[in-house]
Amino acid sequence: MADCKHCQEVNRTVSIQNPLDLTRAIRVIRDNLIDGTLQQSSYWPSDQIGLDEPIFSDLPDHEPWPDYMHYFFQCPQCQRIFELSVETYRGAGGKWSAIES
Ligand SMILES: [Zn+2]
Repeated sequence: MADCKHCQEVNRTVSIQNPLDLTRAIRVIRDNLIDGTLQQSSYWPSDQIGLDEPIFSDLPDHEPWPDYMHYFFQCPQCQRIFELSVETYRGAGGKWSAIES
């Protein structure tokens, strides 16, 4: 699982600090969903159950964005889960990263 070839290109942590970073990250995720590198995941953290699970395809690829974004994806081969977590409100930023299981 450590070296799954299918998801190795997306298996890294990317810091998102500004709208350009976020635009780029959204575009990369879209491309990876289209080519099958990633799938949307039904994973949802237990501490956020009750909140609406957002649908990534509803997200615009440019501003304005929701104040808070939290999306989960997974590799269809190794089932590794990846997270996009960004707070645009207050400019706190966020990141793309794999979730350590
Ligand atoms: Zn994988």
